[in-house]
Amino acid sequence: MTLPEIVFCALVFVFGSIIGSFLNVVILRTPLKQSIITEPSHCFSCGNRLKWFDMFPIFSWLILRGRCRFCKAKISPRYMIVESITAVIYALAYLCFGRIGQWWEFGVALVLFPILIVLSCIDIDHFQIPYWCSGVIAVLGIAAFFIPFTSGHSVEWHERLIALGVVGLMFVILVLIGGMGGGDLQLMAGASLLLGYKVFPGLLIGIILGAIYGSFKKFRDRKAEKDIAEQLKNISMDWYQEQLDRDVGYVKTGHDDIIVGSISDGKPDIEWEFLDETAWVGIPDKAALSKTIRENVTDEREGGFKIYIKDDLVEKVKYSRHMVFGPFLAVGITTAWLVGEFILNWYMGLMGF
Ligand SMILES: [Zn+2]
Repeated sequence: MTLPEIVFCALVFVFGSIIGSFLNVVILRTPLKQSIITEPSHCFSCGNRLKWFDMFPIFSWLILRGRCRFCKAKISPRYMIVESITAVIYALAYLCFGRIGQWWEFGVALVLFPILIVLSCIDIDHFQIPYWCSGVIAVLGIAAFFIPFTSGHSVEWHERLIALGVVGLMFVILVLIGGMGGGDLQLMAGASLLLGYKVFPGLLIGIILGAIYGSFKKFRDRKAEKDIAEQLKNISMDWYQEQLDRDVGYVKTGHDDIIVGSISDGKPDIEWEFLDETAWVGIPDKAALSKTIRENVTDEREGGFKIYIKDDLVEKVKYSRHMVFGPFLAVGITTAWLVGEFILNWYMGLMGF
């Protein structure tokens, strides 16, 4: 690397860290529908306004050792982590693209990577990928149809459409099997428009990382999940017995039904529209069950449950915690954008093309 290149790379790094500190604001405020510009930054504990020297990305957090200057309340290391990741990923984008004159790829990276960081953090916080994030990625993909090819990095328009079709089909199957949400589907649809065939290694990386985390999580959460299922079973058994005793509503002899519900943001809710009313004699007291569950299951943040009822019995209750997938897909998409071409060529070589 020449000296100007090193200087430029350092500048891109600093620019990335500043973008990163703006991303922290977006991550915190947009899900709550708060403005991202009008309100000045302040400490969440004591409300003191931050001074300009408290707002140096990365370094302020390190110098203050993660505490507020005024009240010494702890400041989450995530601010610093988001700033650092943005800075590093911007520098990588410069090294992979800017340095060799691939300005379209570099420009897209400057928009794409922040969007991926934002959606990952919002997914972790709220178990949801915002529509606008996938939307911006899709717009980049559509814009790519009109951008003339830069040397060596051509993604033909039909590749983008074929990738979109294949990814769409794969994901519909995955969503139907369960485990992935509609937000993941939108994200990968947008990404396939942008990446063309490079989306496949990206998706593979995302799914492998997600599966590793998923099995670790299954192991870690098994006791908690069992406890919640047990609690839900006791509640629904009492409730169902009362429905039988008072002759309000119960499942016909020889029939069965499943009551489906979920917990989001700490609030349990039953999806009564999935109740098969033809299997019931009378209509059970829906409000009573919803209310009891809401009042008793209070320490659980995100998950889904199924209550199996057969004849005059609550047979079993299954509960599993939700899992975030967005961050893993984001890592896959980032890798694909940076070195996807390289991975595809390597694979093609391996296959003898
Ligand atoms: Zn404070």
